[in-house]
Parts: sequence; structure tokens; C-alpha cells
Amino acid sequence: MNWESNIRRVVPYTPGEQPKCTDVIKLNTNENPYPPTLRVAEILSNYEYHRMRLYPDTNSEVLVNALADFYKVKPSQIFVGVGSDDVISMAFMTFFNSDKPILFPDITYSFYDVWADVYRIPYKTIPLTEDFRIDPADYRIENGGIIFPNPNAPTGVLESLETVEEIIRANPDSVVMVDEAYIDFGGKSALSLLDKYENLLVIQTFSKSRSMAGMRIGFAIGSEKMIKYLNDVKFSVNSYTMNPLTQLCGAEAVKDTAYFEKTTQRIAATREHAKERLTAMGFTYPDSMSNFIFASHPDYDAAEIFAALKERRIFVRHWNKPRISQYLRITIGTPEEMEAFFTALEEILRTLPKRGNA
Ligand SMILES: *Cc1c(COP(=O)(O)O)cnc(C)c1O
Repeated sequence: MNWESNIRRVVPYTPGEQPKCTDVIKLNTNENPYPPTLRVAEILSNYEYHRMRLYPDTNSEVLVNALADFYKVKPSQIFVGVGSDDVISMAFMTFFNSDKPILFPDITYSFYDVWADVYRIPYKTIPLTEDFRIDPADYRIENGGIIFPNPNAPTGVLESLETVEEIIRANPDSVVMVDEAYIDFGGKSALSLLDKYENLLVIQTFSKSRSMAGMRIGFAIGSEKMIKYLNDVKFSVNSYTMNPLTQLCGAEAVKDTAYFEKTTQRIAATREHAKERLTAMGFTYPDSMSNFIFASHPDYDAAEIFAALKERRIFVRHWNKPRISQYLRITIGTPEEMEAFFTALEEILRTLPKRGNA
């Protein structure tokens, strides 16, 4: 009767809502509003289904080689996984194996503390400054590893390469992971620091800038030594994680650089326009270099705006958490979706009672 006393109990991560109906404007999980390159569609329609009989290439060579070409690194410096969630989870298991706490910001991707809990890794959160910035001086304490996103989520704030390097330089005895899920929307990647630091791991994903959240592709780039350690753990858990069709589609997506540049630039332009519209409505937000804006209104309650938008079938993201409960995270959609969103928002602000007067 005591079987439940030996269970690995965890509180799981809460993903953003994926509504079943399709007639919604979905600005809640930072997906790309544009489809993947047509080259992915070609792979899908030409794929011979009988090839599914066979196990996939455990090294995902076709995808790793395409990434190595694109990022100008050696294939032995690349690790691919089933979404960057898979990559980061493996990296936690591999590199965060110390009794000292790992460090990450207090406001950040809400999966980090979940992985730390499931793998029994001690952690300490480092408060962001008042304006949601990382102060590298705060990362000069004893630690068992460091991870932070750049740009950060859900704030959208981009830190300079100098700030990132300052943290890496101060921590030669730790692995420092930079989660660059949103770097393609205007930031400078820490990939340029790889030649200088053997303990740096840069993690990116196909889910946002490459329009393939449903396909589940993420990757890490680091020193050959680090990637070897990461693969040793991965091949001790499950060797055949990425299916062959995904490997092919991912490789084709990487090769279409023109489409990648066009769509990421378009989203960045829509984002800059969205900033102006939100400012005109009285919203404030930390400056975003990602594909979302983290906005707050001085007069109206964020939870109430969230509910009113949802009633109009427009989904954004809201967290009932300390420091951020008055913010909404708004994913950048197509210009048409954003126009419908602004129209609804203007209507809501006209009718909603002001904060504190409810
Ligand atoms: C979206 C996101 C991820 C995970 O993306 P995958 O879909 O698993 O590749 C990781 N980190 C951050 C900060 C994200 O926003």
C-alpha cells in the first residue's frame, strides 16, 4: 500500500492553450504566423511512406550537416533534439550535476525550474532589475551552472553580447547555456563567442523563426567536447528520438535562407509597428527584440483585458505571478491579425472599468 511513497513527484510545466477551434486569432504561444518554406511541403509530398519501416539515422546527419553549413561550425559541434525543450532537458541532465545551485533569472522561461525539480538540481533565481534587465554582476556567485534566454522570455528584452560574455567570462568553472529561441528576430547570437569559451552552449529552435513548432526541432551548438558529453547522455536515454521525415524537413528549412530572412524581417517590421500602436493606446513595455511584446497598461487590469480578448476569440498570454501579473504577452501575428487585435483592444479599453474602480 506504500507504493506512492517512492514516486518522483513533480509539478509539470503548463504550456500555453492550444484552442481546438480554428476561427481564433492565436497570439499566445509565440508561433510563427507564416508557414514553413515550400521546400518542406515538397519533402512531405514526395516522401515514400514505406521508408518508415526503418529506424532513423541516430545522428540526424542530414540535418546536422545543413546546420553546420549554415552556422559555419563543425558537425561535431551540433546536437539536435525533438524541440529545444528536449535539447535543454538533456543539457540539464548532462551539465547541471553539482551540489551547488544553478542560476537563472526570476522572470524567465517557466520550464527551467520544472527541469531542475524533475532532475533534483538545486537552483537559485536571480531577480531581474526593475526594468527587467540582467545585471551580470549578480552572476558572480558560486554556482553549479547558468542558463538564461536571450532575448529573455516572457519579457522580450535583449541583452548585449558584452553582457552575455561578461557572465561567461566570470564563470569558467560552470557550463553557461544561452537559450536563443528568439535570437533570429533581431539579436546578436552568442555563437560568435564559441571559439573563446569551451563551457558555452548556445541553444536554438525551429519553433519560432523557422515556423516549425509542430515538427519539434531544436539544436545546441558548443565545443566538440561538450557535444560529446551531451550525446553520451542522450544515447543513454533514447537514441532514436528524431524521425527521418523531420530530419529531412529540418534540413530543407535551413537551406532556404532567403525565405528565413524574408519572414523574420517581416515579423520584426510588424513588431515595430505594433509597438507604436500599443504606445498610442497607453501601454508600456520593455523594448522587445523577439516575436512578442510584453505589455502593461497603467489604467486597466491585465487579467480583465485578457478575458475580454478571449471572449472575442483572441488569445494572448497572461501569468498570475509576482512582478508580471499586470502584463500581457502578445505574439506578433500577420499584419491582418494584428489589425483585428488592435481594433478589439481599442474597443475593450473604451468599455472596461479602470483598475481599482471595479
Ligand atoms: C519556445 C521556447 C523554447 C522551446 O521551444 P521548442 O518548441 O521546444 O523548440 C525554449 N526556450 C524558450 C525561451 C522558448 O520561448
